[in-house]
Amino acid sequence: TVRVRFAPSPTGYLHIGGLRTALYNYLFTKHHDGKFILRIEDTDQSRYVEEAEQDIINSLKWSGIDIDEGPETPGEFGPYRQSERKEMYHTFAEQLIEKGQAYYAFDTTDELDQMRERLKKSGNPSPKYDAITRQSMKNSLTLPQEEVEKRLERGDEYVVRLKVPRRETVRFEDLIRGHVSFETKGLDDQVLLKSDGMPTYHLANVVDDHEMQISHVIRGEEWLSSTPKHVLLYNAFGWEIPQMAHLPLIMSPSGGKLSKRKAESEGIPINTKDYIDQNYEPEALVNFLAYLGWSPGDDSEIHSLDELIELFTMDRVSKGGAVFNHKKLLWYNEHYLREQPDSQIADRLKVISDDGLIDNVNDEYLKSAVGLLKERISKIEEILEMGRFFFEDPKEYDEKALKKWKDESAELVGLYKTEIEELSDFEAGNLKSSLESVINAKDVGFGKLMMPLRIAITGQGFGPDLFASMELLGKEAVTRRIDTALE
Ligand code: GLU
Repeated sequence: TVRVRFAPSPTGYLHIGGLRTALYNYLFTKHHDGKFILRIEDTDQSRYVEEAEQDIINSLKWSGIDIDEGPETPGEFGPYRQSERKEMYHTFAEQLIEKGQAYYAFDTTDELDQMRERLKKSGNPSPKYDAITRQSMKNSLTLPQEEVEKRLERGDEYVVRLKVPRRETVRFEDLIRGHVSFETKGLDDQVLLKSDGMPTYHLANVVDDHEMQISHVIRGEEWLSSTPKHVLLYNAFGWEIPQMAHLPLIMSPSGGKLSKRKAESEGIPINTKDYIDQNYEPEALVNFLAYLGWSPGDDSEIHSLDELIELFTMDRVSKGGAVFNHKKLLWYNEHYLREQPDSQIADRLKVISDDGLIDNVNDEYLKSAVGLLKERISKIEEILEMGRFFFEDPKEYDEKALKKWKDESAELVGLYKTEIEELSDFEAGNLKSSLESVINAKDVGFGKLMMPLRIAITGQGFGPDLFASMELLGKEAVTRRIDTALE
């Protein structure tokens, strides 16, 4: 059976790239009727952020990603926070020491610094750990067993290190990148247990993937260089290696990896929380992220989460970096917003609005305003910006639009007002005919009246269909606004 895990470190808000990793894990596992496991990798206490775990869980839920096993929904492989699995890592580290695959190292920080200096001086630009205390391995038996025991008893600080073979080629198959190989020559003897007793990422990650029976490790490309270390660890334990898949980097539109700083300077929200706070449609973000490094191989672009599960296969994930195109995301957002019934959008607006603007607005009225506006905006809250005039008289007139208010504008708008005051049926068709009769009588173009009229009624130079908007506003509001504008 397929079992995947999303294994974030709770160091801050869930990054958009992290959400894509979670999504690909989810799509892959659900395609195979498998399980999605959330594991919190919280062994680095210096980077721990209290609210991060809740943010991760909220973000996944908001996106529609169901967690089969995790801290809040434990299964039989728990606990699902690494900080609660500390004992286990010790047991496994000791197992490796007994097998001769790992060893205690007592180097102090000073000694390590000296070692680096020494190696640098001898012409080594990137010195590796010299493994002076490495025990009982061919060519490097330096610290006798009695000495180790003496130091342990004395309570000397130590770390546990993996005995990395000196001249080997580590090979593995990556489902996305194909055949990958690394030389161990470039590898330090990896620290497995730190002097504070916490496991390193490498040890905890491998032990947990094994213990939780993870079948596929799907993670970002930035972890590719860790994989040879993991492969060595699996070998040292004598465990089977899960299938590996490293997802392509997410690139900034201006090139390079989409870092937090780059995203900020390009106006791209970087945390999932930003998208939630800015009222993006979750279906839009999910659909967009699914295509950020994958495509089904045809021209289709719009797919629900269920359809994506159906379509997703690893062989269609690309190797090359995927460029984050914010305009495309907005295009998806428009699509998923327009798909919703006006009444549903209206209900959501009542929750989103926080300045009392629509508190006392009648439901039918709000729904009609939504209907007029939703084709013109990308995000739901823009309804309250572009459509503000539906709920209050304009307080000021847009400066740029005012440039279109010419000498003859007041007369034309005044004439129009006289026309429409007579209307017994204040509806869009009649409102349009009235405009036509004024411009015909004065022999001027459509825009000569249309533009000033729009400014008078909405305060803006653009917006939804003006005649339909006037019909919704009603005679009283429309004539009052014209009077105010003409004052
Ligand atoms: N804790 C790592 C992270 O923050 C997990 C990487 C992996 O999936 O192995 O992404």
